[in-house]
Amino acid sequence: MSLNREIELNNEIRPKVSYRNFPMVPRVVFGAGSFDQLGDILLPFRKNSDAPIIYLVDDVFEGRELVKKIPAIFNDLVLFINADEEPKTEQVDALVKQIRDNFSEIPSGIVGIGGGTLLDLAKAVAVMYTNKGSSANYQGWDLVQKPSLYHVGIPTISGTGAEVSRTTVLLGPEMKLGINSDYTTFDQVILDPDLTVGVPKDQWFFTGMDCFIHCVESLNGSFLNTFSQSYGEKAMELCKEVFLDDLEPSLSREKLMMASWHGGMSIAYSQVGIAHALSYGLSYLLGVRHGLGNCLVFNHLEDYYPDGVALFDQMILKHNIELPQGLCAELSDADLEIMCDVSLRMEPLWENALGEQWRSRIDRDIIKEIYRKI
Ligand code: NAD
Ligand code: ZN
Repeated sequence: MSLNREIELNNEIRPKVSYRNFPMVPRVVFGAGSFDQLGDILLPFRKNSDAPIIYLVDDVFEGRELVKKIPAIFNDLVLFINADEEPKTEQVDALVKQIRDNFSEIPSGIVGIGGGTLLDLAKAVAVMYTNKGSSANYQGWDLVQKPSLYHVGIPTISGTGAEVSRTTVLLGPEMKLGINSDYTTFDQVILDPDLTVGVPKDQWFFTGMDCFIHCVESLNGSFLNTFSQSYGEKAMELCKEVFLDDLEPSLSREKLMMASWHGGMSIAYSQVGIAHALSYGLSYLLGVRHGLGNCLVFNHLEDYYPDGVALFDQMILKHNIELPQGLCAELSDADLEIMCDVSLRMEPLWENALGEQWRSRIDRDIIKEIYRKI
């Protein structure tokens, strides 16, 4: 059979599928010390001296060296923001109002400097500045109508993949859910591994495990395709090196930063899974942070991800991490019901983890049993 004929035949039998068309971060700088280039990178995007750059910076850096290096000129504004609590829709709305009230010119850009919390805030503020109403109205998929302001993400802790993703996860009045849109993705990312020096060890581990869990959930999910797999496998390999080998610290920082990037790319075309679905419930009711919440849940998912949990146990042991215990022991059944609601609303996550027939494989009793162990 000739080649042409084969293609013809393939075309005949291939069912018509509409593939998703994903945005990616169009520009990225990688390297120790690259933060120093921020001023030059922003320059072409400054519209005029009255159109400020707004820097949203994790307040852990207040008074530290990094702040002196922020290239704030003209009427740029540096806002320090506490990351003890994860971003909320009302916080985003208040920030947008503050910026609108203080400047008559439309800002030239928004720069987020920090972990997933600050990166998500920067994305959300950039999106909401150009779109009407409350950010709560845009939680969901592809609800954003207008392009966002130019926005730059500069991670200072590695793992979430928020630097590459097309979502910003917000706690709203009714749910914890992302603003998933093509306009959410950063226009520029600066990956400077030196910025992650000084992250407390437990937090390093928990946020790093977010990446590891992204890999496990993506690679074991029913949505997996070769695109996701190629990124997921690379991220997994890097995570194993970082958390199981004895790397030199600067190399370890570089590798975890790239693991985070690849892990984020891997879930772009697939989904996360059970640990994330349950972790959202913990976060909603108890305010448990994302990385820690994922670890608390993942620890009890050996029935679903046996190989991943075995590796996780080795990592926890190697780094002497103690997970808090008894968090859910005292919760009432009504509380557990709320957490089940939040968790079960994450339908794509369950479908990815357990397949199309996921409803027949999971129910509230099974979920509550896992929560009670936490
Ligand atoms: P984080 O931003 O919440 O920060 C955790 C802690 O680390 C904070 O106390 C912060 O001050 C501190 N910290 C950060 N950098 C530091 C540094 N260099 N030195 C010392 N301390 C530092 O942590 P995270 O785990 O990166 O982010 C969690 C958030 O990310 C959650 O809100 C979660 O919903 C979100 N998230 C978003 C996505 C996405 O795709 N948008 C994906 C996963 C998670
Ligand atoms: Zn995550």
